[in-house]
Amino acid sequence: MASLPSIDDALALVLAEVAPLAAEPVAVTAAAGRVLAADAHAVVDLPPFASSAMDGYAVRAADTPGTLRLVGQSAAGAPSPRAVGAGEAVEISTGAVVPAGADAVVPVEQTSAVPGQVEVRAAVVTGENIRPQGGDLKAGDLVVAAGAALGPTQVGALAAAGAASVACARRPRVAVLATGSELRAPGGPLGPGQIYESNTTLLAAQLASAGAEPVVLPPVADDEAATRAALEGALGHDALVTSGGVSVGPHDLVRGLLAELGVREVLWRVAVKPGKPVSFGVAASTLVFGLPGNPVSSLVGFELFVRPALRALQGDRDPGPRYLPGVLGAAVRRDPARDQLVRARRRLGGDAVVLEPLGGQESHMIGRAAGADALVLVRRGDGELAAGSPVRYLPV
Ligand code: AMP
Ligand code: MG
Repeated sequence: MASLPSIDDALALVLAEVAPLAAEPVAVTAAAGRVLAADAHAVVDLPPFASSAMDGYAVRAADTPGTLRLVGQSAAGAPSPRAVGAGEAVEISTGAVVPAGADAVVPVEQTSAVPGQVEVRAAVVTGENIRPQGGDLKAGDLVVAAGAALGPTQVGALAAAGAASVACARRPRVAVLATGSELRAPGGPLGPGQIYESNTTLLAAQLASAGAEPVVLPPVADDEAATRAALEGALGHDALVTSGGVSVGPHDLVRGLLAELGVREVLWRVAVKPGKPVSFGVAASTLVFGLPGNPVSSLVGFELFVRPALRALQGDRDPGPRYLPGVLGAAVRRDPARDQLVRARRRLGGDAVVLEPLGGQESHMIGRAAGADALVLVRRGDGELAAGSPVRYLPV
């Protein structure tokens, strides 16, 4: 057991096989959740013109305080055609163009309206309440760098800077195949010895959240011919994730069949609990992950290896797994040989995230895992990891 690769070594073996997919143009309106394949630059200055930061009056600062003649209006999208001369003011709204001649904006709260005039009670200085042209970004400036994951803020910034279309790696198409003669689709009755097939539902949701397009195949029984045919059909996607049948039992057919189909196995078994009998291999241009059938093992194996690989496939410069810092809420027994991912619930204790391990840590206990929002990394070792110990965790 000590000779099994660690989580980190195994992940390095996986990532070494990943080359980013080709890029395609993506409308910025559809780019949230994608990864940028090339630096994206501002098309225009941001703001594109000197604009008002307040509702008020555009003036010459030197004329304030004082009573000024009202000579026009500048509304958002409707600039004043009239410049501001000495002793003059233009009524202006937030985001409207500052008229020529004006060098400051007096907020409406600091004025009193007089018919045809405005009385400015306080002095403003040059530049006050004016957002300079290009004060946020200049045309040509970098907005978001290649390899960044695009979230709401990034796509909002790109749209503001006039980048209507950006280059993003294609979304990986990932086949999902469950194996096991005991599996039945939820919805119908269970026969003797049968269980509901849950891993493809779990995996499809994980794949979607990783930016991939899941292609869920019909599950196959533990039958050589059926499994071979299904695996063969699934190779050719960008990745294939199988569930079950990768352990050492007589019905665990997946690895042998993958080898027959030309998949070069890179990894089998990792010093992790749960999820030890995970496998990874490569066909022509397909990454092949064999996840163990126990649902929590499948969940953990995906987070540790499949999600980072799929993020790397999309060109993410930080493919994860993205561990966060926390503090253990209760002691956890260490495993002497394997690092563990302990299902836990987060709460805020002072300024720290406190992770409370849940009862029911066995790898078949997906029902208990439903109460978890964190997988806490507990390194292998002797005895217990004490309550209060600093740890890292993955949000789930
Ligand atoms: P295996 O890895 O095929 O030996 O399966 C290990 C355990 O996980 C067994 O109890 C299986 O019944 C269960 N299992 C396998 N595949 C699935 C699945 N797709 N959904 C739910 N449970 C599964
Ligand atoms: Mg099985």
